[in-house]
Amino acid sequence: MQNSTLVALDRSHLIHPVTSFRGHEQQGVAILQSARGAYLTDRHGHELLDAFSGLWCVNTGYGQDSIVRVAAEQMTRLPYATGYFSYGSEPAILLAAKLVALTPASLQHVYFTLGGSDAVDAAVRYITHYYNSLGQPFKKQFISLERGYHGSSSVGAGLTALSNFHLNFDLPLPNQHYIASPYPYRNPLGNDNAALIQGSVQALRDKVAQLGADNVAAFFCEPIQGSGGVIVPPVGWLKAMETACRELDILFVVDEVITGFGRTGPLFACEAENVQPDLMTMAKGLTAGYAPMGAVMMSDRLYNTIADGAAREAVVGHGQTYSAHPVSAAIGLEVLRLYHEGGLLANGMAQAPHFEQGLRELLAHPLVGDARSRGLLGALELVADKASKRRFEPSLKLSERIAAAAYRRGLVFRAFGDNILGFAPALSYTSGEFELLFSRLRKILDEVL
Ligand code: PLP
Repeated sequence: MQNSTLVALDRSHLIHPVTSFRGHEQQGVAILQSARGAYLTDRHGHELLDAFSGLWCVNTGYGQDSIVRVAAEQMTRLPYATGYFSYGSEPAILLAAKLVALTPASLQHVYFTLGGSDAVDAAVRYITHYYNSLGQPFKKQFISLERGYHGSSSVGAGLTALSNFHLNFDLPLPNQHYIASPYPYRNPLGNDNAALIQGSVQALRDKVAQLGADNVAAFFCEPIQGSGGVIVPPVGWLKAMETACRELDILFVVDEVITGFGRTGPLFACEAENVQPDLMTMAKGLTAGYAPMGAVMMSDRLYNTIADGAAREAVVGHGQTYSAHPVSAAIGLEVLRLYHEGGLLANGMAQAPHFEQGLRELLAHPLVGDARSRGLLGALELVADKASKRRFEPSLKLSERIAAAAYRRGLVFRAFGDNILGFAPALSYTSGEFELLFSRLRKILDEVL
């Protein structure tokens, strides 16, 4: 089909995620055709180096033949198996057991979802069930971070603290509350990371005190805030928040949808700080984007309370037709094999210093105020004035101009509205691909200067 016809059909009929409907009607869409390794190709044959792993998910890179093979085999053998009515499938059971072995010891039970939003949604529902089963139905207030992103389910979009997800959606809900994010570059206390961590802990204590110590159910956080602008907290922050949650007797929920599966170095960011969450959500790198799948994992304490509580003989009424889909699960098993035996995790860790150095070198560029990263998750923050860290006027549409220049020069990353450029290259990146990334990026920044 002609490209122009496809673009017209897209404008007329396809609603895109998190997009201005009217803006989309005018701008249209770049239609992608194929992908291999770290490269995407659009329908005009224009090649793009993907420095964002799709949407921070294709951690393995594109065109991994073994994943395709495993998916085809599973589709041929058993394309679907319900998890309802005491049925199951081998790949789903094996993947659940593998995740239990690979995540912090606190997490012993897995519920599979279709992605991250419904993993967060499931977490909220299980937490609600848990406190009701425990005989503490008053514990229903939820706290998350400003600039946090926890998907866009009806409940999760209120834990998300980004205004677009609330506007005209009647969110946040009355039981959803936020504390400031740990943002080193914009830390009012300067470079004092210990004070920043202490400030977060105090903010959580204050919020819990304000809501009533007995009323708070849980604190949700990303180890590194992704969609909020790749905000990398100081090392030790996650552990400090875990400790604070224990003291305050609230559940500690870590959303590893972006940070999981080698994105920050270890398989999960929790590992680096020896954190033992009560619940963990994950998606994206679980299947590396080759098929939809997410998961929520929970501790024995939650599981047993739900099992033995109010619902002892009743069913726990949470489920989806495609929970634990066998094709996605088979892909997940192969993706995990590639991270470990396939050497992707090791390559990601070996390449991370080059990535960090490339970002840091751009600090000398007149537009760049901050360069930050952990593992292969990083960002540049562009400012109008480095001394005051003043942001560019939105009317300059700098992010839009950067995104357009990047496309022309064959590079994909994410230009956030407030002039933060986010990067999440695949764990399969080579040194040559990092060189290409940074040489193209420098030209793009020069072009829009
Ligand atoms: N949680 C976090 C931390 C995310 O980054 C995302 C998506 O980017 C989600 C949840 C929602 O995941 P999904 O888009 O798969 O629904």
